[in-house]
This record gives sequence, structure tokens and C-alpha cells, in this order.
Amino acid sequence: MDIARIEAIPSVKPRVFLEDMGCQMNRLDSEIVLGKLHQAGFQRVETTDDADVVLYYTCSVREHAEDKVFGRLGSLKRLKALRPELVIGVMGCMAQNHKERIFERAPHVDLVCGTSRFEDVVDLLEEVRHGERVLAVDRRELKFDRDISVRPRRFQAFITAMRGCNKYCTFCIVPYTQGRERSRPVSELLDEARRLVDDGVVEITLLGQRIDTYGQDQRDGTNLALLLHRIHEEVPGLLRINFITSHPNFMTDELAATIADHDRISRYLHLPVQSGSERTLKAMNRGYSVDEYRAAVARMRARVPDLAIATDWIVGFPGETEDDFAASVALQRELGFHGSFVFKYSPRAGTRAAELEDDVPRATKEARNQVLLAEQSAMSLAQHTARIGLDLEVLVEGPSKRNAERSMGRTRWNEIVCFPAREEAVGRMLRIRIERTTALTLHGQPI
Ligand code: SF4
Repeated sequence: MDIARIEAIPSVKPRVFLEDMGCQMNRLDSEIVLGKLHQAGFQRVETTDDADVVLYYTCSVREHAEDKVFGRLGSLKRLKALRPELVIGVMGCMAQNHKERIFERAPHVDLVCGTSRFEDVVDLLEEVRHGERVLAVDRRELKFDRDISVRPRRFQAFITAMRGCNKYCTFCIVPYTQGRERSRPVSELLDEARRLVDDGVVEITLLGQRIDTYGQDQRDGTNLALLLHRIHEEVPGLLRINFITSHPNFMTDELAATIADHDRISRYLHLPVQSGSERTLKAMNRGYSVDEYRAAVARMRARVPDLAIATDWIVGFPGETEDDFAASVALQRELGFHGSFVFKYSPRAGTRAAELEDDVPRATKEARNQVLLAEQSAMSLAQHTARIGLDLEVLVEGPSKRNAERSMGRTRWNEIVCFPAREEAVGRMLRIRIERTTALTLHGQPI
């Protein structure tokens, strides 16, 4: 059944299958795509077999996500042969990065749509319907208009505060796929937050690749601290305000004071360090030394002593020696992170690091990955154990993934808490007395 035929039968909606892979920004962009399709009369389906249009919205930062999509595209070949009218599209960073190479590798793909054109998805599918294969990777200003009703959780939402990155870390593809930093005006973000609250949202997460540089491109004194302050004061319906991802060079006293002075701003800071080795940080072009990172953490903790700081690590960056890695482990212990996201280095074509020899063996990367994860697990267990006996405010998210008889929620430090099911409390704060814990999850009883 093609789109033209569906339009001739008004009661039947075209069916779209969309899978997103990658970061939160990717997830939000794919929600925006679904919102556009929803407004145009499309219906979302859960399997490719049921779909008239199959879309993959994919991140390019990790090789893994790209491999996964090429795998998915491979397995769609048969379906496309059986139903040539099936429309297949690749969207997002991966599309922006690989452009027409996706058509070369998967000739049955109809649409390749990059990071500046996803808002045009309906028009682009219309072009495909007219028999054209469409490559839409040119740079355009995004409009940021969005169907706020399309989001996976009724009471939680992401908001794009800014896009792009000016930093050019040598391993990262983002500046090439997302372009220069562009911030949205405060008034627009306030308006979006208010509309979301009116639609039932109580928790928002402001997104930006370097969220702390928010406003710098506007050159009028706007910054992240000011944005957080205004949202906190002017959108009282929000119970929690999160922001990710941070860069250590922008941990100002003003930002720390804003977090400290505003109760509903979460006490969770995602502050990637990537390595504890001076040499490796330089090779990554991160723009700070180990001491500068330490100072950034100290500045934030001085004003917000209970701040939970999580970080990212890359293991096996080209040239990383045992000594470099030992410096990472030492820094991890020293700073007592509340979370560590560890990534095994893989070269991304087009980045400067891809020109270096990927000389750390796969097995070594895996072993280093395991060491950092084990260290983090021990630290998290100790941090969680210190919570036993405390009564914590938990924002209830829904059923626990592992046990339907329990609910789960999060503390202001982004810790997961499980407790006997309280479906009626979803989207509300509950006080939970913590009784026991693992490295990953706190367990308790509502009080
Ligand atoms: S700061 Fe570095 S790692 Fe983060 S998005 Fe920009 S270039 Fe990529």
C-alpha cells in the first residue's frame, strides 16, 4: 500500500515505523519528526512489517549505532523487494555524516535526511512519493516548532536549548554534523516550557552539546545560569529542571550559585572528563588540563556540596599507554564521581583523531572499560549505602523495568529508587525511606 493509495481512503492513516538510536538530542529530534508526521495524519506502528514508511533516526558519535543501522537496512532488503512502495529513510547525524554514501551502501534507501532538514520530513516524504530518491543534507535554520503532545512520557520532556558545538574535540563528529553553536532565545524556551507544563509535564531536561555555552552566540549577556533562573521563577509548575551536557571550561561561580539557590534545579551534573592523562587530554583537544578539571569540580562542589557529578571516559584513545590509563583510574577515585559512562574509542571518519593510528588493541580497550566500570560500581555502592535510613524525595516515573510489582523514580541526584508499586503517583514527588541498595538502585518504602 503506498501513500497515494492511503490518501484515497481517508479512514486509513499511513503507518510509520521509527527507531531512534543515540543521544538524548537524537531522541528529541526523532520525537519532533514523529510530531510532524502525527500532524500530517501518520500513525506510528511498532514493526517494520506493519509500516508504509520505515525511518531510522541515528547518532554518528558511536560506530556501534551506525553499524546497527546498516544491519537493519540490510535486513529490510527482502521487504523492499516484496513491497517496492515501502519507503525507507535514514535521518539525523548519521545521514548528515555519510550523505550519499548511504545510498551507495544501501541502494534500497529512499531518503537521507540530515540534522538541518528533519523538520521538513513530511515534504521530503512527499518528494519520495513522487518517485524521487531524496538527499536532504543542506544546512538550513531550524524553526523549532514542535507538536509537544508527541513525547514518550506524559510528565517528562526534553527541550533543545541550543544546537551545535564550536569545540572540535579531535575524536568527535558533532561539530561537523550539527554545525556551529546556535542558542534559542530565552522567551522561546520559556514559552515551550509553559506549554509543556500546561500539557502535564513536571520535569524538563534542557539539551545542548555544550549546554554551558548557552547564550554566548547571542552576545547580550544571556547565559545558562540566567536561563535556569528564569525557568525556575517563571514556570512554577515544574518540579525538576535538568540540563545536559556540560563542559568543564564553563563551570562558573554564577552557575554554581544558581544551582544552589534554586530548589527545583537538579543536583546532577554531567561533566565529561574523557581522560585523566594530561597528554591524552591534549591529543583530544579538550581545552583543559587535569588540574583545570579538578578546579571546575571544586568550584561547583564549594557552592553545591551535595552535587552528584557523573562523567564520560574514552578508553583506548590513540596512543593511550598504561600510565595514561592509570592516571584516569586515579582521577576517578580522587573525584568520587556518581556515575561513569565509559566508551571504547573507535575512529569516526572525518575527525582529526581518525588520522591517528588506532593502536590500542580491542582487548585492552575492553579490559580498561571493565576496570573503570568496576571502580565506579564500588564507588556508587558506597555512595548509595550512605543513603540507607534517609527519607528522600523521589519523582515517580513508572513501573520498574525488572519487577512490575514495583515502581521506580529518581532523586534530585539522578539516582534510581524502587519501591512497592504506586501507579497513581506517576509524575509526582513521593518521600521514600531508603532501606537497602545495590550499586545501581536504591530500594525503599513510601512514607
Ligand atoms: S565539546 Fe567536544 S565532545 Fe562535546 S560535542 Fe563538542 S566536540 Fe563533541
